[in-house]
Order: sequence, then C-alpha cells, then structure tokens
Amino acid sequence: MITNFDYYNPTRISFGTGNINGLGEKIKIYGKKALIVCTGNFFIESGLTDKVQSILREASIASEVYTDVSPNPLTTEIDRGADLGRKKDCDIIIGLGGGSAIDAAKAIAVAIGHEKPIWKFYPGSKGIEEEVTSKTLPIIAITTTSGTGSHMTCFSVLTNPENKEKPGLGNEFLFPKVSIVDPELMLTMPPKITAATGFDVLAHAIEAYTSRISTPITDLYCEESMRLVAKYLVKAVNNGKDIESREMMALADTLAGMAITIAVITLCHSISHVICGIYNLVHGESLAAMTPYTIGFSMNENPLKFAKIGKILNKQGSGEIDEITDKNKDIYLEKTVNSVKKLIKDISLDIPLSKQGVKKSDFVLIASETLGYMANGVALDLREVSEKDLIDILEKAY
Ligand code: NAD
Repeated sequence: MITNFDYYNPTRISFGTGNINGLGEKIKIYGKKALIVCTGNFFIESGLTDKVQSILREASIASEVYTDVSPNPLTTEIDRGADLGRKKDCDIIIGLGGGSAIDAAKAIAVAIGHEKPIWKFYPGSKGIEEEVTSKTLPIIAITTTSGTGSHMTCFSVLTNPENKEKPGLGNEFLFPKVSIVDPELMLTMPPKITAATGFDVLAHAIEAYTSRISTPITDLYCEESMRLVAKYLVKAVNNGKDIESREMMALADTLAGMAITIAVITLCHSISHVICGIYNLVHGESLAAMTPYTIGFSMNENPLKFAKIGKILNKQGSGEIDEITDKNKDIYLEKTVNSVKKLIKDISLDIPLSKQGVKKSDFVLIASETLGYMANGVALDLREVSEKDLIDILEKAY
C-alpha cells in the first residue's frame, strides 16, 4: 500500500554542457542586479565569475561578487553578504559553487528580504525565532560540485560560530527559481572534492530511500541516483576531465537532491551536521566515515530496501529482489555494507573520524546535540535512536 504524500519541487532545471550561457535570459524576469555568492578566490582566479558577469551583462543584468563564504558557511559571513547586497541594491541572489555557495546565497536572500540577522531564521537549539516568508529575494543556483543537491532543495545549512551549531533550514521560499547544472563547470574539481561531494550524493540517495517519509517518486530518483554513482563516481574521481562521468554524477546529484527535498535525510546526515559544526570537517568525508555503521544500525528495519541498495551498488541492474527471507537476509545485508565500504575505499575516502579531528571526549556532546537540534532528522530514521546507540556508532566510525 502507498502512504499518502505531497510532492512539490518548483525549481526550473537547466541541465547540460554549455547551459551556463543561457543564464541571463532565464533569470532576467527576476530582477536587474545580481549578487553572485561564491566560496573564495578559486571562482575569481578561474575566470568563472567574469564569465557569469559577462553573460548577465548581455541580458542587461548588473552584478556584484561576494566571495567571503567558507566551505560550511558561517552566519557572520551571511550577515556581511546581506549588508553588501542591500548597499548595492541587488534584487537577485546567485549561488555559484557547491552546496556552501548555494546555501549561502539562499540565506543572503532571506536576510536581505527580511532585513534581519540570519540566525533568527535557523532551527538551532534555541528554535526558530523568525519565519521565512515570500519577502525572500529570488534565488538562482549554478552548481559546480556533484554534490549536495542544494540546487534542487528547499534547504540551507549554516554554522553559527558562536555556539558551533550547524542546523539546516527547510522552507519552500528557499527553492531556487532556476538551477543551472552545467557539467563543464565540474571539470575543475580535484579528486578529493569529487570524492567527498560524490559520496554525499550516495548518502542522500541511501537516506532518502530509507527515510520514514520516502515516496514512490523519490524511491525512483534514489535508485537511479545510486545506479549512476555506482557506475560513474570512481571514473569521475580517477579522471576529472571525463565529461560523461561528470554529466552522470551531475544527474545523480540532481535526482538525489529532488529526493531529499521530499524524503529528507536520516541518521548519518543528522550526526554529520553536528560534528561538522563542532570541527568544521568536510561534509562528505564525515558521511563516508559513518555511513557503513548507520546503515548497519538501521538495516534490519527494512531489509528489502537495504538489500536492494547493495544490489544496485554491485551493478546488478535495478536491484530487484523477489523476497527477503530469514535465510537470505543476513547475506544480502552484509553485501550492502561491504559494497558501501568498497566504494568508500575505491575513492580513498576511508578516513576514520579520529583522523578527521573528532575527539572521543566530545562523544556525549555530539550525541546530545544530534538528539537535540537535529532531532527532526533522527526521527526520520527507520530505527529509534538513543544516546548510547549514537555513541556506539561514533566508536565504530572512530
Ligand atoms: P563546498 O561548496 O563547501 O565546496 C568545497 C570546496 O570545493 C570549496 O573550497 C569550493 O571552493 C571548491 N569547489 C567547488 N566547486 C569547484 C570546482 N568546480 N572546481 C574546483 N573547486 C571547486 O562543497 P559541497 O560539498 O558542495 O557543499 C558542502 C556544504 O553543503 C556543507 O555545508 C553541507 O552541509 C551543505 N549541504 C547542503 C545541502 C542542502 O540541501 N542545502 C545538502 C547537503 C549538504
């Protein structure tokens, strides 16, 4: 039986090599002056901001560039970006980059539109103080990683440097109006970033697929996304200039983004938010350290779906399995965990939490914050989770 569901994902996708050139025409209905938000000087030095500005000029859109955004963007950077955008009369906000740039652009669009400090809108441990409304400026995404799916989601994740909390805000006014997914922009990603962002795609697909609020539509996206990751992620890591692998990973990312918009994320992402907030880790690396163990924790709650994940990752077609029995269940589930571990090794992302800077002495804090401000994500996991369970998972990933 299918559980009733709503499906809403209003972003216009412009997908394909060279599609960056159509940016101006697609967005000129939204305003006259854009603030282009990106993470650091790579985007200036590579000529990408110049290129975007020139495409915008051709469509009579003026622009300013704001580069002061870190990977894992900070609330302070958003408030400064909003000041700049307000001073320069920007009425469109473009995120140019990976999830950090796009999430920062979404947040700046909220902060300018409502003329308030951004932290008031985010669901940290204090709760949401201000609701996001239609005052949010139009958001445009140009994604350069594959990726966080942020170009397709209504989420924005920020870190508050004062309390080191890193919650995700979900609100329908955060959907980008237009998302440019041009795989040519991903050719410059070095192997390490390709691997970490590519693993995030897989983690999204696995978590949305096994979330309590997965739907038949998101399941299709997740299965196809996992199939594409299994076929193309190692290739993209080994040869970053292979445009076919870049295209397929961009598609996998887009599908997984559409899936998390509806089915959201579960346990692994919930813990990852907390540890990335505390230690400023690479998002995809933290997920890779924990995913085999969060899968191991939850897989008996829906053995059929978790078994299918293993089949898809082992490139066995669509992962169809007729029946899970007491006899074959453990064999299937072990294969799933092993196939995830193998992929992690193949892309050199087998870095335990201890080597990423996580401290054992913080495990209780991490567990309590995961069950605190990330409780909504935890609640979507198929298995109920206690503080002790979280510490066990952290021990295993350590
Ligand atoms: P990122 O945006 O932090 O980028 C990582 C690094 O790669 C940066 O230094 C960036 O400058 C560089 N980079 C980006 N594109 C490049 C390219 N084409 N060539 C060379 N260098 C490039 O990485 P990310 O993994 O895309 O984003 C991570 C952030 O997204 C985290 O804060 C995470 O929590 C968040 N996130 C958001 C969502 C969402 O739905 N909003 C979902 C998952 C994760």
